[in-house]
Amino acid sequence: MFGRLFGRRKASSLEDISDLADPSGEVKRVVAKARSLASLARHTEARQAFQRAEAIAIEAGTRSSGRKHSKLLQAFVLMEANDVERATNILRELKADFGAELTEVEANVIDGLLLKQSRENRANEGDVQHALGFTTVFCCQNCGRLHNYITLPCPSCEWVPNSRVTIAKGVILSNLHIQVPALLVLSRQMATGRAPREVVKDLDNSCQQYLESPAGEKAVALLEHLISEEAGEPRRRIVDVRQCEMCRDNVLYSADAHCKRCGGEIRWNDRRRMMLCIDSLLALCEQRVEIRSPDQLAEFVCILVSILNGLLRKQELPSPTTCRYLLQVASRMTAIADKNLGAVIETSKAPEIKVHFIRDRMDDDSVESGTWLAQELDYLFKTADRLAAE
Ligand SMILES: [Zn+2]
Ligand SMILES: [Zn+2]
Repeated sequence: MFGRLFGRRKASSLEDISDLADPSGEVKRVVAKARSLASLARHTEARQAFQRAEAIAIEAGTRSSGRKHSKLLQAFVLMEANDVERATNILRELKADFGAELTEVEANVIDGLLLKQSRENRANEGDVQHALGFTTVFCCQNCGRLHNYITLPCPSCEWVPNSRVTIAKGVILSNLHIQVPALLVLSRQMATGRAPREVVKDLDNSCQQYLESPAGEKAVALLEHLISEEAGEPRRRIVDVRQCEMCRDNVLYSADAHCKRCGGEIRWNDRRRMMLCIDSLLALCEQRVEIRSPDQLAEFVCILVSILNGLLRKQELPSPTTCRYLLQVASRMTAIADKNLGAVIETSKAPEIKVHFIRDRMDDDSVESGTWLAQELDYLFKTADRLAAE
């Protein structure tokens, strides 16, 4: 059953949308061959096979399938060959040359890939200043929650690094050095009271090495400067966002119309509800969600962190492009499961979701937690779907 839930995929990849230029499947066969050569470390032959696949893709454009599909196919081959730079250029050309002729699915796939690429570029540049503020995900070394900035107080606990060593540690405990799924594990461990150094192997050594490297030294000096500049600025805190104005109790569900405790009407705008929703979803990802498809979940978490940042710092709702991309990633993820698979929420048809409680895997808190997860996903996807159309 889970194989089906986690395995199904919607037609939403470059491979799917370039099918028309490769009716006989020839390019995909050559690409598969190239991939298996690469996995056997036969790199020269793999490169030649990718080049052959690209040549066939270009050739397809002069035949009946037309230039648009041929370019999509070429971009697919280049992505598979890990030649991301050329693939990205072709995707940009496609947008510029064929903007109006692209179908909705094609436009969404291209936008999604370009967005993902621009994020990865920033993270890969190793230039901390550039990476900051985009989707760098930091794990707060004080409270273990994930957030987007190291130079600003953590939106959950207000802690901010206060020395060169804690700044370096902050950089190490981010997706600049540790992959997002491992950051989720770190967050989970910290919630049980363990310190980061008990969880991340050689953390102190890594910090020391980073501080002694020229790039690290430069980055830490820059971050130190930014922290001192930002000090004392008023910040929005998540705890304030969650409170009912009348009784000060925390509101749990972002879509609630009335406070569960005092019954008062909750008249919050989209921005505030969305902040609450994403804070809850991040907390659930940090503490409960099963890490089944790490790449997709990582991408999902990155988008959540980046949307929350826009809301906290700029009071901005996510753009239509981000919303479309979010829904695409959700559908590719196919499902998100609560602890021990007690509750599984199908997301393959996002914005629609389907909730399954798996009786023999449920714990005492599966219903409560699974319902919360489902309600927040439902609010997020419906709102994203509406904003995407605006
Ligand atoms: Zn914190
Ligand atoms: Zn209340």
